[in-house]
Amino acid sequence: MAWLRIWWEEITLPLRRITSLGRPPSDFRHDPDLLLRGLGLASAALLFGLGLLLLPRLPHRAAPPPPPSPAAAKPVRPARPVRPLRPPLREVPARIPPDTFYPAIREGRAAGSIDLSTFDPDRDIIWVDDPRVWFSSDHRPTTPPPVDHHLMNRAVEGPFRNLVDLVEEAGGRLRVHAAYRPVGVHGRFSLHKEGRAIDLSADNLSLEQLSLLAVRAGFDWVFHEATARGGAHVHASVRRLDDEPE
Ligand SMILES: [Zn+2]
Repeated sequence: MAWLRIWWEEITLPLRRITSLGRPPSDFRHDPDLLLRGLGLASAALLFGLGLLLLPRLPHRAAPPPPPSPAAAKPVRPARPVRPLRPPLREVPARIPPDTFYPAIREGRAAGSIDLSTFDPDRDIIWVDDPRVWFSSDHRPTTPPPVDHHLMNRAVEGPFRNLVDLVEEAGGRLRVHAAYRPVGVHGRFSLHKEGRAIDLSADNLSLEQLSLLAVRAGFDWVFHEATARGGAHVHASVRRLDDEPE
């Protein structure tokens, strides 16, 4: 049965060599084949461990950019020149008598005629408030359709806020009777339809005093409407923000 023993020794040799890895190092020194095999296994284990360590740190494949949303595809409105909120205070004439206007040129030339093709309410109309000001639509119903007299062209805001301060300094209280009125009441060519005109009076100040303050505040055209059909008031208007003075 010697051949069976030799045959068994031969076929189990690889297994016995592998299982001998745990034996003392003297075995490796005497068996280069086992030493190489051990080194190979140790290298493989090292590489596997390094792989586990490095795998989470590898840069992930960049995700494809998301498709542009409809909002992002909308063209951005170019920056528009903005009238300084506090325009320089202007020199005023000695008087603006009843039923006269200043400057003494027609409104369209001083403030620019109405042009609804260049007017965009979503862009141009803003809501303005100041606790020192009385807005008529806050206190009495307006003729249909309802109107909010806080609404005005953004070009009005700077001169308007100046005027609020000037009227307060003069001991008065500003009243707003009308501003932006897209339909009704005002004439076809009225700048109220672009919100560039505002109708005013003031407690404790005459309409002439208020007219002079409106010029000083930066309004481009001021009309002392003493005998207006709808009641005496000051009508003040401004140029569009983009318009250069003539
Ligand atoms: Zn008016």
